[in-house]
Amino acid sequence: MKNELLLIPGPTPVRPEILEAMGQETLSHVDPRFVASYKNAIALTRKLFKCDGEVFVLSGSGTLAMEMAILNTVGVDESLLVVDQGYFGQRFVQLGESFGIAVDSLKAPWGEAVSPQTLQNQLQKKQYKAVAVTHVDTSTGVQSDLESLVPIIKEAGALCIVDGVCATAGVDEDMACNYGGCYNIDVVLSGSQKALGVPPGLFIVAFGLEALQARKALGRIPAYYTDIYNWKPIMDDPSKYFATPAVNNVFAYEKALELIFAEGLEARYQRHHRYGQGVRTALGVYGMKAVAAEKDAAHTMSCILYPQGVDDAVFRKKCYDNKLVLAGALGEFAGRAFRIGHMGNTTESQLEQAVRIMGEVLQDMGYEADVNKAVTALRGIIGA
Ligand SMILES: *Cc1c(COP(=O)(O)O)cnc(C)c1O
Repeated sequence: MKNELLLIPGPTPVRPEILEAMGQETLSHVDPRFVASYKNAIALTRKLFKCDGEVFVLSGSGTLAMEMAILNTVGVDESLLVVDQGYFGQRFVQLGESFGIAVDSLKAPWGEAVSPQTLQNQLQKKQYKAVAVTHVDTSTGVQSDLESLVPIIKEAGALCIVDGVCATAGVDEDMACNYGGCYNIDVVLSGSQKALGVPPGLFIVAFGLEALQARKALGRIPAYYTDIYNWKPIMDDPSKYFATPAVNNVFAYEKALELIFAEGLEARYQRHHRYGQGVRTALGVYGMKAVAAEKDAAHTMSCILYPQGVDDAVFRKKCYDNKLVLAGALGEFAGRAFRIGHMGNTTESQLEQAVRIMGEVLQDMGYEADVNKAVTALRGIIGA
């Protein structure tokens, strides 16, 4: 168990300190010790996004975060534009349509990003209440360039909703004036099990002031558990009750946030940037190429095409037998590529070990793989 290399795009490896926090005795959800933990976790979450509005840390997976983000900002008679760069972009479309929201999408071919120009053109044609952008689409390894997209969305008078499930705490999602002046991300949503490095079980949604105004204007919404008005009193004072919080998950999440701030946000973001480049460069030595062009490639995970002839099931089974867990590719890349996570609390030595195992598995399958050259390439980039 200790030597397992869980390098899928979430869940990610969980540090022993976080597991220890999670494994402590379960307390009452109104015990002052738990209330203090929850309060601290909420305050640190606010700091993570530099959120001037309200943050919500609740039980559930990232998909529920998507639902909370959309239902509290877009009314059923209003329209949503989705920047669709893969599987999780499509999830926004399905989610919106499930609630009768009018959804349009800008679809990039899998592996490519929607260009700022395409977004701008669409926003000139039609007024939208909100635009949803997947920060890192976990199906393709494409990372959205928020620095160019967010100002375009805000200039068009729409709310900007960012799905950070596969990016938060690995790529900057500063909601305050970070993108070329005073352009803000209005909502960031996330899940605990990816770059935050916590076991699955919690979701997070941060609403800026403009998004809170939008919620207010909506009046009644078709939501109960995900209505922020049911949770706001609890986020303000976690000793109050609406629905039982996941006590032990919150302990783990608080510990993870403390570790994130101990590392430093900027250092952590740069580490992820190096990880992405390092892993892709090292795998390039084996003749493996990312689906995304390097300029669009994510810092947190990669979708990697096999060299001609390599069988996906055999490769990943052999890696698994060597305690390296990789994920299959989705959609049109299924069978032709695999996905590897390089995020959260994954260490440099774990990545090195993974590059070694993949090279040795390729050799075992009869392909040439220069393991030392790949490891050297990796070290040259990720070594701080
Ligand atoms: C994993 C993921 C989700 C869904 O999260 P769940 O916790 O599986 O519900 C949504 N968006 C992105 C970008 C993801 O990577």
